[in-house]
Amino acid sequence: MTSADVIDHNRIRVSFEFFPPKSPKMEETLWSCIERLAPLRPNFVSVTYGAGGSTRERTHSTVARIVRETSLKPAAHLTCVDASRAEVDDVVRGYASAGVKHIVALRGDPAAGLGNAYQPAPDGYASTPDLIAGIRAIGDFEISVSAYPEKHPESPDLPADIALLKRKVEAGATRAITQFFFDNDVFERYVDRVRAAGITIPIVPGIVPVLDFQRTAGFAAKTGASVPASLAKRFEGLENDEKTRHLVATTVAAEQVFDLVKRGYRDFHFYTMNRADLVYAICHMLGVRADASVAMGEAAAA
Ligand code: FAD
Repeated sequence: MTSADVIDHNRIRVSFEFFPPKSPKMEETLWSCIERLAPLRPNFVSVTYGAGGSTRERTHSTVARIVRETSLKPAAHLTCVDASRAEVDDVVRGYASAGVKHIVALRGDPAAGLGNAYQPAPDGYASTPDLIAGIRAIGDFEISVSAYPEKHPESPDLPADIALLKRKVEAGATRAITQFFFDNDVFERYVDRVRAAGITIPIVPGIVPVLDFQRTAGFAAKTGASVPASLAKRFEGLENDEKTRHLVATTVAAEQVFDLVKRGYRDFHFYTMNRADLVYAICHMLGVRADASVAMGEAAAA
């Protein structure tokens, strides 16, 4: 890790993504994860929105609890799938009154599943720029959006994808978070093209620690992210050895992040999958250290 020597630790900023829990047991897991990661003082933490709005209440209650019980700045993911404008606007107003100031605005997957054409709900927001304009009309939210270094599977080509990103920025997006990727050259080429298109908002790389290679590869196939053969090789034969798999996953993600730091990137968004250990270790290696004064439950005071 020679690159660690040249990192200006103070400038590294991390954010963490969680999914809303489905059961009391999962809720416990999520909150112990949040408790472990909170002292790293992330720039923000985000909570996903289930496909088709299936976690509408759970996303809201998780984000609202983060506001109430921690000093973290939460971002609520929101999609326009299967919901009228009035329903989506209600969700946005609910966030405003819960004290949430940041929304990750997404179109979402087609209700009929990936691979089908996206059909806006009757009287629903038709696209992400449309949704962003709706959110902006309700309140002064910080708005993050998605970006796809290897293009979205529905997109005809990268220029079309980048043109859409530009429309999201024109509508009011202030940050893009990427789909996960494993090839930093691909990401860097993408950022060059985004900049050449006149888009200046931060493009924050989304980093996924590979907790389970088969599952990650399956998800990558659906989302259009390429998986290098060298990555498969590293996890080969570890299917029944979770401990070693996680050590390898930490190393792989740390290598990727250190290489991005070397290339000048300082902001990283981690897909935590509600597991703290790997992400905590990577952040530690990046020099992002726990602030002992950050304890849970002191949110309101902070
Ligand atoms: P967009 O980027 O707005 O559009 C995706 C693609 O659709 C475009 O590239 C384009 O090809 C096509 N398209 C869109 N509008 C048009 C148009 N007018 N004409 C032609 N083509 C068009 N999903 C969830 O369900 N919940 C989440 O919480 C969630 N969080 C995410 C967070 C991040 C950081 C990322 C990268 C993805 C997330 N997703 C989530 C997945 C996302 O919902 C899917 O990828 C979905 O298929 C696209 O939503 P989007 O906002 O990324 O779409």
